[in-house]
Amino acid sequence: MPRGDAAATPAKACDIIVRNAYVVTMDPKRRVFARGAIAIGGRTILAVGSEREIVAGYRAARTFDAGGGVVHPGLIDAHVHIVHGTCRGIFANTLNSASQPVSFADWKADVTPEDEHVATQLAGIEMLRHGYTCFIEPGTAFDGDAVAEAAVSLGIRGLLSGPYIWDDIGPMRHLGGLDSQSLYGRVPANLDRCLKDMGRELHRNRDDDALVRGYVGVYGLGTASDRLLAEAKALADRERVAFHQHEGYLPGATKADRDRIGKSRIRHLADLGVLGPNATLIHMYVLGEDDIAPIAETGTSVVWCPVAFFTLGIMGQTTLRFPAMHQLGVNLALGVDGAVDATIGESGTAAFFVSACTREPFGPETILEMQTINAARAAGLAERIGSLEPGKRADLVIRSTAAAESYPAVNPIHQLVLTSRGGSVDTVIVDGRVVMRGGHSTRLDELAVLAAARASVQRRMARLGLRPTTVWPVVE
Ligand SMILES: [Zn+2]
Repeated sequence: MPRGDAAATPAKACDIIVRNAYVVTMDPKRRVFARGAIAIGGRTILAVGSEREIVAGYRAARTFDAGGGVVHPGLIDAHVHIVHGTCRGIFANTLNSASQPVSFADWKADVTPEDEHVATQLAGIEMLRHGYTCFIEPGTAFDGDAVAEAAVSLGIRGLLSGPYIWDDIGPMRHLGGLDSQSLYGRVPANLDRCLKDMGRELHRNRDDDALVRGYVGVYGLGTASDRLLAEAKALADRERVAFHQHEGYLPGATKADRDRIGKSRIRHLADLGVLGPNATLIHMYVLGEDDIAPIAETGTSVVWCPVAFFTLGIMGQTTLRFPAMHQLGVNLALGVDGAVDATIGESGTAAFFVSACTREPFGPETILEMQTINAARAAGLAERIGSLEPGKRADLVIRSTAAAESYPAVNPIHQLVLTSRGGSVDTVIVDGRVVMRGGHSTRLDELAVLAAARASVQRRMARLGLRPTTVWPVVE
């Protein structure tokens, strides 16, 4: 077919064109192309624009017709304990599990590399199915290679840090089922061990194309000495990676910490100089009014995990400061966290809770920023992912127009954020590669993963003498 006259620019070759799409770019102007297209070459986005412009400018080896459906940047879960999703049905409430013979933290301590591998594959399938293309694991997986290998086998992007970086587990006694002698036996609270382990995953960053990368995390909640905090922040600065920790989780623990150090933990972190543009604080449900200024002034990011928040039963005991932080320009991202009785990848449920908690100022557009571009900044990967722009890695999701959840389809972004779940995810591309098609992995036999996950959990329950609790008589 002729491509115009001799004066026209010849079409450039590329690998993939996604056309006939409602493209939500999340670029700095937040442009949306109602009839848009994207050209991808190798791992990278080459061009985003109107379909007319892209189709005239590029010739692709493979073309995806989105049928008018929404195409958006892959979502990023800024905080998910990816190997813990397999506790569902065993621990309905992780904090209350302290009263049981085997607590949730005992369960965490017993995990093997094989268990972590299959738990990551199960979680990865669920995340891709819900439009997530990247996750940040908060340093609670023991075998980084097992987790990384599982993520790569599915084609999902991930960030890992060394396991349980803590050198003072005293504050853990305020955290119920997260307190466990068997866990401290496996990851002792000592500075030397932490200094050795905290950079353990950073070697992955030597490969600039690595799908799974390293960053620096400490457990937080008062479990790191000032020296450990300073060393961890310095390592993150040197390596130009993100630095994460949990804070502001429970009223009792936060108060005990304040009583112990004589000021708020957030003020203490600011005084130590360990906040800043590469620092991220996770949870942050329990904060004083005066904690907000140091976060905003230092450019620190905050990750809100609304699904986890509702499992804590602390509503009414705390005033959520997220609207105030947003108003002061704090970079807010979203995480699913432990997802004890939730699906890993619950973007829609998380968005619903954010909206229901606060309504203003967190409309659907703001929530989508928290799940994409803001989360990319918290990951330290803002230059690379989080939006559909030329030069960024090609991580994107094509939503189906055949899913009931997307209708009446008169306000695509509202429905994408608040009413869509996994039912509308058709095709997922990560790093320029098609990893999900028709809502299923192109890489792995999903049924085999599901069976292996069940077998892994049955073995773990047998090792620990755990049985699922059921109220009704089950007749065999
Ligand atoms: Zn967490």
